[in-house]
Amino acid sequence: MSDNVVDFREALAHRAEHAPREIGEADWRRYERYMKEIFTALGMQPDTAGTRETPERFLRALYDATSGYDGDPKLLTAFPTEATGAPDAIPGLIVEGPIAFSALCEHHALPFHGYAHIGYVAGDSIIGISKLTRLVRLFARRFTVQERMGEEIADTLVHLIEPEGVAVHLEASHLCTQMRGVEEHSRTTTTFWRGVFRDAELRREFLDEVRARSPR
Ligand SMILES: [Zn+2]
Repeated sequence: MSDNVVDFREALAHRAEHAPREIGEADWRRYERYMKEIFTALGMQPDTAGTRETPERFLRALYDATSGYDGDPKLLTAFPTEATGAPDAIPGLIVEGPIAFSALCEHHALPFHGYAHIGYVAGDSIIGISKLTRLVRLFARRFTVQERMGEEIADTLVHLIEPEGVAVHLEASHLCTQMRGVEEHSRTTTTFWRGVFRDAELRREFLDEVRARSPR
């Protein structure tokens, strides 16, 4: 087990490493001037009571929405300790979710948001939903695409708890299509399978469980 803990850390280190981005005060002010210029060109009335601080607020919101790049030190330390041994348990499907997430589409830098469901068949370790939520957020709060986000969650979970198999189901609405009236209410669904989920029966069991839990 202690050997595994070292592996956990190494596997996660390059993705969850606590590496806060550093943007200097002078750079922030410059970016705010850029945003003010852009917003004004688009038609915004600058310097009103409502819009005076909009460039700053906008950039701050973007910064917060991409905090996945800062890593998650709590994820790094909590995973090994919370992954409790389950040697006596009968291997079965564990499903967690829905886990709400918001991400930024890297093609348009606009949000897509929805729910993740994570399923796994445990090996020697299980993991709490709070850490799964952290894992989802680590990869959602970036410029990404739904496909890569799902792959990253699945692969990282495989490294972390070495389960028999992992399933990740993501369902999201993409503002880049909705707000421009391209596909107004569509939701994009993607599912990722690892390990024992090559079994069709297990995939069906997971998808049934997701369907039963999905918010409507
Ligand atoms: Zn997009």
